[in-house]
Amino acid sequence: MTPMLRRAVARAKCSKCERPAVAEIRYARLRLCREHFNEFMEKKVERVLRRVGVLQKGRIVVAAVSGGKDSSTMLAILSKLSKKYGFRVIGVHIVLGIREYSEKSLEKIQQLCRELRVECLVIDLERVIGFTVPELARRAKRPTCSVCGLVKRYILNAVGVELGADYVALGHNTDDIIAYSIKSFINHDITQLAKFGPSTETIKGVAIGRLRPLFEVYERESLLYALVNKLPIVIDECPFRPRSPMEDKIKEFMNSLEDDHPGIKLAFVRRLEKRLGFYKSLAESQKYGRCKYCGLLSAGDVCSFCRVTEKAAGKPLGPLVRSEIRRLVASIRERSKAP
Ligand code: AMP
Ligand code: ZN
Ligand code: ZN
Repeated sequence: MTPMLRRAVARAKCSKCERPAVAEIRYARLRLCREHFNEFMEKKVERVLRRVGVLQKGRIVVAAVSGGKDSSTMLAILSKLSKKYGFRVIGVHIVLGIREYSEKSLEKIQQLCRELRVECLVIDLERVIGFTVPELARRAKRPTCSVCGLVKRYILNAVGVELGADYVALGHNTDDIIAYSIKSFINHDITQLAKFGPSTETIKGVAIGRLRPLFEVYERESLLYALVNKLPIVIDECPFRPRSPMEDKIKEFMNSLEDDHPGIKLAFVRRLEKRLGFYKSLAESQKYGRCKYCGLLSAGDVCSFCRVTEKAAGKPLGPLVRSEIRRLVASIRERSKAP
């Protein structure tokens, strides 16, 4: 939003009440006050959750929280909806060991979970396996970001399995999903594209489905939600993030299209969701089994986490991580039983 527009919005009234507007939603022709903006955002998430069948008593959602605006907004909205519908939300944060960035993230997460009164599981990688992400990457001779992604996917899935969760929720917003889908088009990777819906399937006991509650939430809306509700968030970016990733250029381009065609980003993800069945029918069939060391999902004999840790530490560390997570989950169960 330009400074001029921001001033204009600041003076404008909410389209639904007399209060001053904090948000202008061009594609919906709405100006909204804080309360009505919150309601608008919560409805968006509620609709996605309804479509995938989460709004039921007894469902368990593990919310992966990084400390950034998106996953914090996601957790705040999930926590509100969980009270309304009776599903359970448990936050999970992985301490990756990326210097001050990780320390700040942990601080914000603990504050957020306290404020929202959401149970949060903290998994400190260095404490569990003896290495931070950068150290693991150095020893395994792999790029830091790829090892980081792999560690996060593995631990989040392992937590989901141990908790018997229905979904692991990620903070991907509309802009992220569009950028990843366009990247998949550039690579002609339909198999990858078929995974970018609001949810993916669970393979019981081995792999927990992904949930993207912010599927229809624009990046700027997610930031605004965090700001107007004063959620504790980290603003800094990970020091290992590439300087000009392709995703950022795609996002810039899509935002300039959105300026001329309000709502085009929303239409993109909605059409993507409608087309998922078709893309899935074109996807290459992937055979999955269980890792011979840790028992979790693996394309080959050994999962990528066990492979990388074997290279870095001389032995696969999947089993160690799983037993530590089992211990943490048991302590959560004990606490929730306590009066
Ligand atoms: P990224 O892979 O960094 O783009 O993050 C995608 C999503 O993964 C975030 O929106 C979070 O839901 C989750 N995530 C990222 N970092 C962490 C972390 N350190 N601990 C738990 N979840 C994370
Ligand atoms: Zn209002
Ligand atoms: Zn394994």
